[in-house]
Amino acid sequence: VLAVRGLVKRYGQATVLDGVDLDVHEHEVVVLIGSSGSGKSTLLRCANLLEELDDGQVLLDGVDVSDPRVDADRARRAMGIVFQAFNLFPHMSVLDNVTLAPRVVHGVPRGTADDRARDLLSRVGLADKADSYPDRLSGGQQQRVAIARALAYDPRLLLFDEITSALDPELVGEVLALVRELAGQGRTILMATHEMGFAKQVADRVCFLDGGKLVESGPPEQVLGDPTHERTRRFLRRII
Ligand code: ATP
Ligand code: MG
Repeated sequence: VLAVRGLVKRYGQATVLDGVDLDVHEHEVVVLIGSSGSGKSTLLRCANLLEELDDGQVLLDGVDVSDPRVDADRARRAMGIVFQAFNLFPHMSVLDNVTLAPRVVHGVPRGTADDRARDLLSRVGLADKADSYPDRLSGGQQQRVAIARALAYDPRLLLFDEITSALDPELVGEVLALVRELAGQGRTILMATHEMGFAKQVADRVCFLDGGKLVESGPPEQVLGDPTHERTRRFLRRII
């Protein structure tokens, strides 16, 4: 589904991604791990074409969507992204948060958008919250709304950037359970997380980023249990 080729991203003098190659295949759950500043968020943002690449390509189903001649909006619609902060509009109901982009950006009629949004909300277990405002929801519920919103265009790929990091510990589980459910439905997911237990259980592949380089990639039991590289070992020792 996704292929990242020789991706280089610089901010000023700093090379934040230094030639990253990464594939995410259909139905795969790929987890990005690495210390703070290693480039996980930048990689997800580049994959979603929210950043300009300094070199390399992002291919979606074999199409080079990083080519400036390609319609980036259309490519972005094929990917649903969720960030650490919930990023919901506080002055809009849950339903309107989910339907805003389809209605305003893509001209989907309200009735159609509402029906679709109610369906998505019921899939994330929030059918009864459609008319609530975000401040009446728990952090976990808000994050599930953000996930419903990311599902709006039935994306080929879901990009999750530490979507549980801002949650109270007792709310992390319900969001991870939803991710697990999406994985079980065969969704293709690329996610950055610090939840190693979750990575171990749900990831098909774990990728360790360090200093903008993809140091190691493999099945979770190998990368987390018996890493090849000293840098991976050092990272895992530090976080356990
Ligand atoms: P964390 O685990 O803390 O979320 P991360 O792995 O997601 O870290 P990134 O956010 O991708 O790391 O950041 C990688 C590097 O790029 C950091 O050194 C950061 O300071 C730098 N960086 C990120 N965004 C920008 C920006 N907009 N301008 C300048 N530097 C940036
Ligand atoms: Mg980050």
